[in-house]
Amino acid sequence: EHALVRLEGIRRHFPVYRGNVLRRQTGTVKAVDGISINIMPGETYSLVGESGCGKTTTSRMLLMADQPTEGDTERRNFKASVQAVFQDPWSSLNPRMRVDQIIAEPLITHQRLSRSAVRAQVQELLQVVGLHPFHAERYPHEFSGGQRQRIAIARALSTRPKLIVLDEPVSALDVSIRAQILNLLKELQSTYELSYLLIAHNLATVRYMSHTVGVMYLGKIVEEAPPIELFTNAQHPYTRALISASLPAHPRRQREEIVLAGEVPSPINPPAGCTFHPRCPFVMERCSADVPALVEYTPRHFTACHLYADGGKNTC
Ligand code: SF4
Repeated sequence: EHALVRLEGIRRHFPVYRGNVLRRQTGTVKAVDGISINIMPGETYSLVGESGCGKTTTSRMLLMADQPTEGDTERRNFKASVQAVFQDPWSSLNPRMRVDQIIAEPLITHQRLSRSAVRAQVQELLQVVGLHPFHAERYPHEFSGGQRQRIAIARALSTRPKLIVLDEPVSALDVSIRAQILNLLKELQSTYELSYLLIAHNLATVRYMSHTVGVMYLGKIVEEAPPIELFTNAQHPYTRALISASLPAHPRRQREEIVLAGEVPSPINPPAGCTFHPRCPFVMERCSADVPALVEYTPRHFTACHLYADGGKNTC
């Protein structure tokens, strides 16, 4: 089966300068450093990792807001635009526009439709996201956070996209309504065969929503696997640390836990070799010199770590 979107070895590097008059380049931020991702039709690919790991830059490149410095964004059968739903439904909806105007805005930009056709589509989209058509003439401040996120989803759906970038879509919402929004997104995915690129900190959300999860560290994917495999059989020390950190403390689990030491190194001129080596409890001599390749550990499970360089035979 062909991927809907294939990102192939994409890079986004920013030069860093010092001095106001005689500007001198003092480093390079490798925000995204050669990642490859396949997003399959009707599936969710999730990116996880600490802030600054490059998840958002990757999603911006997909939204074409940021061009890769290098690499290719191949679009297969990908005529419809990519849409996005962002974290904060309070600031992502224009407070001066009515709900029908907000939802119709992308429709008017992308398609030439009559006023009555636009009205009919807005009514239909409201129903699809679980809102009553009479909400069309209200303003965003009249809605709760969950309802606003439904409006943002309706707007994203209006151009019939194949792919929606979901950037922390429920993290600003009350815990009690997060599941409703996630379930709505799942229903819409199966009804319209939508693909999602999900960015989320909450690993329970990622586990629930994803078909494939990519773990990013300093601009690189260090591990990729289907969620069940990743959450039960993570191999990369960074992934194992992330998962341990997300679980509630438990006395019996403590021995297996890998605790993340130190801060995330600066993305300006990141460490050589495996960029995780200054924090890794399993660091070996070659880790500070050789960049580990992302290799298939078991089918569909890829890891970039020298511990598994020979398909898991080279364990410590
Ligand atoms: Fe740790 Fe070395 Fe593996 Fe990097 S390559 S995660 S430093 S063991």
